[in-house]
Amino acid sequence: MSLSRRDFLKVSGATAAGVATGAGVDLAPVEAAATSLKIKEAKAFAGVCPYCAVGCGQLIFHRDGKLISIEGDPASPLNDGHLCPKGAASFELLTHAARQTRVRYRAPHSDDWQDLDLETAMDMVADRVWTTRERGFVAERGGMTLMQCANIAHLGGATLDNEENYLIKKLFAGGLGIVAISNQARI
Ligand code: SF4
Repeated sequence: MSLSRRDFLKVSGATAAGVATGAGVDLAPVEAAATSLKIKEAKAFAGVCPYCAVGCGQLIFHRDGKLISIEGDPASPLNDGHLCPKGAASFELLTHAARQTRVRYRAPHSDDWQDLDLETAMDMVADRVWTTRERGFVAERGGMTLMQCANIAHLGGATLDNEENYLIKKLFAGGLGIVAISNQARI
C-alpha cells in the first residue's frame, strides 16, 4: 500500500488517539510507511505553533527524550496538517546550532559582546525600566490626575499567549502606567 507523508501523519494521529482510547487500529500501513521516515517509532504530542495568531496544530515527535520532528497536525481544523514555512521551521527553535542559550550583552559604545547570568540581566532590565519610567511619569497635568508613563512603549510578539499578555498588561499598564501597549492577537 502506498502512503503519502501526509496520509502517514493522518494515520499516526488516528493511531495515537486509538492507543489513548483503546480503540483498535490497524498499524500495518503506518509501520510500512514509517520505515523510511525519521519519525519511525517516535511518540507524538499535540501542540500549537508558537509563531502567529493562526495557532496551527502541530504534532511534536520525540524518541528517547529527544525531539525528532515537528509536523502539521492533520486533526487540526485550522491547518489540516499543513504548516507555513515559519511553522515548519519551528523544529529549529530548539535544535538550531546558532540558537542562543545564554544572555548576551553589549555595553553602550562597545563592540564586544559578553555573557551575563540571567539574574544580573533581569536586574539590569528592571533598573532601566524603572529609571526611564521615573523620568517620564506624569502624575497630573493641568489639575487633572493622569498617572501616565508616555516614554515607554511595549510591543509583544505572537509567541506570547493570553496569560502572558494578561500579566504584561497588568504590570505595564496597571503597575507602571504605560499606555502604549500592543501585541499581535494570540488564540
Ligand atoms: S506561523 Fe504559520 S504554521 Fe505557525 S500558526 Fe502561523 S500560519 Fe500556522
